[in-house]
Amino acid sequence: MKQIEIKHVYKHYPIGNKEKFTALTDVSVCFKKGELVSIIGESGSGKSTLMNLIGGLDSQFEGDIFVEGVNLRLQSDKMLDKYRKNKVGFVFQTFNLIPHLSILDNVTMALTLSNVSPEEKIEKATAILTRMGLEKYLKRKPNQLSGGQKQRVAIARALINDPDIILADEPTGALDSGTSAQILEILKEIADEGKLVIMATHSEKIASVSSRVVEIADGKIVRDEKNKNYKKNKKPSIPKIEKSLKSQNQKLSIRSALRLAFHNMWASKTKNFLMAFGVAISIVALIIMLAFGSGLDSYIADVSHSFTNPNIVTIAKKGDDMIGAFVHDPFTSEETQKLIDDLNQQLETSEFDYRVTQEDLIPGFSSLTGMGIDVSFTFPDGTQFLPDEQGNPQSGKTEVSYIYTTPPYYTQANLIEGEISGDNQIMLTPAVYSIFQQYFGNQDIVGKTIILNVSLEGMQQPFSAEVTITGVVDTSVIQSVLAMYVDFDFLKAIAVENGLDANSFPKTTYYLDVDEDVAAFLNDFVMSSTAYSGSIEEGLTSMFSEMSNTISVALTIISCISLVVSAIMILVVLYISVSERTKEIGVLKSIGARRQDIRLIFTSESFLIGLLSGIVGIIFALIVYGIFVAVLSSLLGFAPLSLRWYYFLIAIGVSVAVSLLSGLYPSNKAAKLDPVESLRRE
Ligand code: ADP
Ligand code: MG
Repeated sequence: MKQIEIKHVYKHYPIGNKEKFTALTDVSVCFKKGELVSIIGESGSGKSTLMNLIGGLDSQFEGDIFVEGVNLRLQSDKMLDKYRKNKVGFVFQTFNLIPHLSILDNVTMALTLSNVSPEEKIEKATAILTRMGLEKYLKRKPNQLSGGQKQRVAIARALINDPDIILADEPTGALDSGTSAQILEILKEIADEGKLVIMATHSEKIASVSSRVVEIADGKIVRDEKNKNYKKNKKPSIPKIEKSLKSQNQKLSIRSALRLAFHNMWASKTKNFLMAFGVAISIVALIIMLAFGSGLDSYIADVSHSFTNPNIVTIAKKGDDMIGAFVHDPFTSEETQKLIDDLNQQLETSEFDYRVTQEDLIPGFSSLTGMGIDVSFTFPDGTQFLPDEQGNPQSGKTEVSYIYTTPPYYTQANLIEGEISGDNQIMLTPAVYSIFQQYFGNQDIVGKTIILNVSLEGMQQPFSAEVTITGVVDTSVIQSVLAMYVDFDFLKAIAVENGLDANSFPKTTYYLDVDEDVAAFLNDFVMSSTAYSGSIEEGLTSMFSEMSNTISVALTIISCISLVVSAIMILVVLYISVSERTKEIGVLKSIGARRQDIRLIFTSESFLIGLLSGIVGIIFALIVYGIFVAVLSSLLGFAPLSLRWYYFLIAIGVSVAVSLLSGLYPSNKAAKLDPVESLRRE
């Protein structure tokens, strides 16, 4: 029965621009089951070319090749993949085993491509390898075997899918004569079992063992002889392999692809780990960026929420002062009107119903300040304390830098101790408090009533009033500030007593007590306006926000750049890996791997690289995060970083996505490699 019929086949190789080289000229020949055919010819005569056509590796030819009546030239790529997987087995001169896979994995590869179960694969491969006398070497790598052993592995691989045709291209070309004889004996057994074995060789001696010799010279068949001395072996000893029909149309599973990819990555683990470290840097930048972003935001939110009353809008004229409302020029009445108009215009454009009127503006005088304000105090009952050198009782004394009106937006959170002051009450900063405290023998003085005497520089007489100390203000921003907080009328009284005109008493700060949404809106307007400034706290908050934005932008840029660099790095490494493994890809195709399978293997590799980089990145990020928190806490007393669990998911996601994206081009290139050219690669 004619298994293969070759009719008038021409093969032209394009060389250069328009020229072509004719490697096969009008080749017509038939092969039958059970034959061991030697195609003999000098190097360059066209043997491999013919084998590749028969094997369905190359479908660009003229003429017809029928295999069991099916015309190979008319088959789709998909059909040819199936044909190679199930009908033919290749054996090469240089063995072409995949170096990073074990002997067992090399042999089971064709089954892996068909998604056969691991148990079935191992059982079949072990049976064949045992027949080849290699049962002790299942776990070894190809480079741990001799040439003859390698070729026996290659034959086992060719047989694993129980093909009808074995194509052996100079199978003994790299072996010594003793080993060659063993290999030839195996090939003969395979033929005697009923398969068609076609072997290319340039040696007459080798050809002499076969049942038929077909000689080819310059691409033409010049001789076709039967070997009369050929004796068929009666008892074929190659184990019969059950073909599981179910498996034939199955494809490479993702699990197997990942396993293959893992094997390959492990084979060049140093390279892959170094690359993962590189990619990990960008992942660290990404995680730290996210941690800073949310950390600073929540820190700022904390600060601004705890230190300001959300209903109060503070408005002063813009001063030279960097952070706002320390010292401001007073509003004139025209300016006050302009302020009202400005605010209402903003409210109107943004469709708020609320409108500001003159009555809503609570006047505030942010501070009295000067070269120094002398403050002394005595007890209301006349008791004096701390006698002077002469033994005369005297009052407590200090100099303060500011007397502020207590801002209406202050809440309990602004106090270290006590309560917000009202009429005839004062609050002190910790620095002033500790000075006062000394005169009281270091006892707690919140709640004590004293007679306060205030004397401004250059003023005629001090102002005196009985006041109660109600609280200590948290000045964590500026620890040592010497200041007292009183209400507006009290401050005005101090000024008037010291000779200032009550009517022209300047209103440098206005407060508005409004609903939270309006307050938030107007505060934003005031902070962004060039004419007005807000409270110190708002000033600090917006300064922090700006810092936070700058840091976030810088970190975003760094992580974007490093992600791009990582992507290019992965692309280059995978691209090089594809060219290094061209031959392997050719081998995979010769045993029936489809484009999708090759693409899946390489895509799995980029996926694993992404995963590894993500994990390494997360570990690094945790270390860097720890260092940042430790350093910032010791420098600033707080660390505006916070980690969320989903940052790690984002990190893994980004790293896998970048890696998969970079892998697209190399995987595609691998998938499209021409099998014949790949196999020709040295
Ligand atoms: P053999 O296997 O008998 O040594 P080949 O079949 O490999 O010979 O090659 C037959 C001829 O075709 C040689 O002259 C070779 O140079 C030529 N040839 C093979 N492949 C190509 C190719 N891809 N492009 C151009 N010429 C080729
Ligand atoms: Mg050849």
